[in-house]
Amino acid sequence: MGSPLDIAIAGGGPAGLAAALYLHRAGHRVTIFERFEAPSPVGSGLILQPTGLTVLADLGLLDAILALGSRIERLHGADAASGSTVLDVRYNARPGGRFGLAVHRAALFGVLYRAVSDADIGIETGVELETLEIGQRARLVGDNGRSIGPFDLIVDASGSRSKLRRHAATPAEPRPLAYGAFWASLGWRGEGFDEHALTQRYDRAAVMIGVLPIGRSSPGGEKMAAFFWSLKPADAEIVQARGLEAWKERVLSLWPECASYLAQIDNFDQLTLARYGHHTLKLPIGPRLAVIGDAAHSTSPQLGQGANMALLDAAALNHALKTSSHLEDALAFYASSRRWHVRTFQALSLMFTPFYQSDSVFLPFMRDRLVAIAARMPPMPQLLGSMVAGTMVDPFRMIGLTEQDWTRFGVGASAAAIDDA
Ligand SMILES: Cc1cc2nc3c(=O)[nH]c(=O)nc-3n(C[C@H](O)[C@H](O)[C@H](O)COP(=O)(O)OP(=O)(O)OC[C@H]3O[C@@H](n4cnc5c(N)ncnc54)[C@H](O)[C@@H]3O)c2cc1C
Repeated sequence: MGSPLDIAIAGGGPAGLAAALYLHRAGHRVTIFERFEAPSPVGSGLILQPTGLTVLADLGLLDAILALGSRIERLHGADAASGSTVLDVRYNARPGGRFGLAVHRAALFGVLYRAVSDADIGIETGVELETLEIGQRARLVGDNGRSIGPFDLIVDASGSRSKLRRHAATPAEPRPLAYGAFWASLGWRGEGFDEHALTQRYDRAAVMIGVLPIGRSSPGGEKMAAFFWSLKPADAEIVQARGLEAWKERVLSLWPECASYLAQIDNFDQLTLARYGHHTLKLPIGPRLAVIGDAAHSTSPQLGQGANMALLDAAALNHALKTSSHLEDALAFYASSRRWHVRTFQALSLMFTPFYQSDSVFLPFMRDRLVAIAARMPPMPQLLGSMVAGTMVDPFRMIGLTEQDWTRFGVGASAAAIDDA
């Protein structure tokens, strides 16, 4: 684009903060509008895949996030009753030295937010956005009727419950998924757990328990783990009514090694109930509007791609604006550059989630018998490795990014660097 644009970004999550950094650095005048009074991260932990890490490297933030997160080499799940392995995905199944980085949300938020503050990008907090108006230019409208603008472009990064995406060319709203989860951030306890793996236990698909080492939320902080227990949001009240001890007994009966984590939970208030939904905007754009991140596509976190796709969207929007002469062309290019990657991973997530979170008896039976065996036969380990890494469809070429050479972070070297941080 020839001249700088006035850009409003709705939402200060990973998508909004990354987009703000990119677009500010490209010379545009950017302001972020966020509903929270003090910007803050929501939730527990997540895995940054080689895709999201490549975007953070492009933003010059790789070292900062590596210093906080926990390097993940493997996703491992076993049947709670038999102990037999039913999921074993390794990032290094393909050459290239790839790994995931599990982080506390506060760590990802902190790294992006500090960079936004250092760049003096404007953030207006305490603004609940209700809608937008499109005329010659675009305006945001707050819940008190305040009209904010005008802007040349509005970037909707307001997450899965966006109120602005109804202005996109093909609006869609999330369909609630049957299962959600209790999540807690707890102190890391190593005994019986691999510090470089996401470890899970299953009882058919009705129960999934997970422990994910997530490093530190801030430099010098305690090493932490995300602990999760999947359940139907509709059943949460029943579980709470039976009492914390009854729930703990149930967890321990399935996975006794979790005792050191359960000992840190004194109250159901420590467990956040996450509800999942699924939607994909066919065309995440409208007149003077780009929809990015969870506002454009939400799903269950089974494949661990959401934050990574949000970061890729931000990079893609920046690339499209840089390489197009007109705003309309840039928006169309943004949408097409993300189309196949987003659609593929949304479809995979929808397909795989019921194998791990559903009432089905047949799907977990297949998972435990056939899929576990097939997953060991080439080229399945390689395919699963690139599915988890987020690269089964190349997300980089169309958005002007090149994947890092991960081999320079040798396993021992980078894990030690992270441990020392
Ligand atoms: C339990 C759980 C586990 C997950 N695990 C993973 C994982 O392992 N890997 C992974 O990649 N992803 C994971 N995800 C998904 C990931 O968290 C999301 O994909 C990611 O946070 C999306 O970023 P975003 O910036 O698009 O939206 P959000 O993070 O939702 O940010 C949206 C921002 O907009 C603000 N906002 C919303 N509405 C308004 C409004 N009306 N006015 C003003 N401001 C508004 C919000 O306050 C928020 O700050 C997980 C999600 C959950 C719930």
